[in-house]
Amino acid sequence: MLDQLTQRLSRVVKTLRGQARLTEENIQDALREVRMALLEADVALPVVKAFIERVRTKAVGQEVIGSLTPGQALVGVVFDELKALMGGNEAPLQLNARPPVVILMAGLQGAGKTTTVGKLGKWLKETKRKKVLTVSTDVYRPAAIEQLATVAKAAGVDWFPSKASEQPIAIAQNALAEAKRRLYDVLIVDTAGRLAVDEAMMQEIRALHDALQPTETLFVVDAMLGQDAVNTAKAFHDALPLTGVVLTKLDGDARGGAALSVRYVTGAPIKFAGVGEKLDGLEPFYPERMASRILGMGDILGLVEAARKEVDEEKAKQLAKKIQSGKGFDLNDFREQIVQLRKMGGMTALLDKMPAQIAQMAGQLPAGSDDKMIRRIQGIIDSMTPEERARPEIIKAKRKQRIAAGAGVTVQEVNRLLKQFDQTQRLMKSLGKGGLKKMMRGLGG
Ligand code: GDP
Repeated sequence: MLDQLTQRLSRVVKTLRGQARLTEENIQDALREVRMALLEADVALPVVKAFIERVRTKAVGQEVIGSLTPGQALVGVVFDELKALMGGNEAPLQLNARPPVVILMAGLQGAGKTTTVGKLGKWLKETKRKKVLTVSTDVYRPAAIEQLATVAKAAGVDWFPSKASEQPIAIAQNALAEAKRRLYDVLIVDTAGRLAVDEAMMQEIRALHDALQPTETLFVVDAMLGQDAVNTAKAFHDALPLTGVVLTKLDGDARGGAALSVRYVTGAPIKFAGVGEKLDGLEPFYPERMASRILGMGDILGLVEAARKEVDEEKAKQLAKKIQSGKGFDLNDFREQIVQLRKMGGMTALLDKMPAQIAQMAGQLPAGSDDKMIRRIQGIIDSMTPEERARPEIIKAKRKQRIAAGAGVTVQEVNRLLKQFDQTQRLMKSLGKGGLKKMMRGLGG
């Protein structure tokens, strides 16, 4: 999959050698390559544009850290953004609702819906130890009901009999009653697929959704359809609140565009990937692994990771030294700390994990401090001159006004920041060696 993108990126790595910094000029060609590769992979144009812009913004001016070549550093940025494009973290199936958890499957004919019902049933049974019942409401194709019976049997999960003469809603309700009566953990409902999105189909699946109130509504779509897959998913999501997408046939010669854009276009996360015709060909979808597979550069990604860690550790060590020596903790260091906090997921995520002293310091930031607040603080410090950062005491009224204007904030906010810094500085001075060690441990440094 995405061999082209992989090849183009390896070329990028080679051509960006020997530059100390990623600049607008030296990454231009590389970005053009990435853009071409994404378009070739059938990623929708608006997605490509947004993606390239994000990579450009993140990459330009970034110092090439540690032992990395500029090309490797750029690959690191591309990797981060690919991962973010696919949703960042994995989106697991919600299985904690009161049983039976109902999973409604939607999709066009031939997408792989029925096969996926079997695969998912097997996966739930074998890896999650769930008792699974399946049912087909596809009364338009008697063969579809038979097909599910066969697939369910092969998957080792139960099948609720239905007939082409029945109403889909009645079938679904009977199956749900049966699932309750016999204490099933999960009920998977297969639905009719059509050749194209049509109103009758939408109405029927909406009615099924109303009757069943499913915990999960999964849209099954063939990755080989590329942009069409994404457009169909969007049409469904506009009509029905999807909780996730299953992307099938990723083992084929799919160009991969669907995997990259479906999340961006629909907002619904990819929860599973179909990777084969057999019943064990279903995998939970991990954006990180996918990004790394697309880049096909496990080795380089390893280097990037290691270099980033090295730099973070080096910075933490320098800061520790500064504090221990009891002098020179200035606004540059304060800013550095804030950047580190942002990297670790913002204040809110961090407060729980922090040792007492640091929590106290964080507590001095205004209530509700979050990523946005941290960014504002960073913005204010960025508007100061190096001298002001080193000697904050020289920041008087005129300078405050200039800084506030530069950062797009009020003078009051600048004042507040200076006060916080003053308090932090005092706290830092009072931190003994033991306290410091504890703090570093707490921060995972
Ligand atoms: P439905 O009409 O949506 O129920 O689709 P089916 O479940 O009948 O699947 C249509 C075809 O796609 C069948 O030949 C399946 O074997 C095949 N198929 C489904 N999922 C995958 C997959 O992940 N990989 C491959 N290679 N084939 C798949």
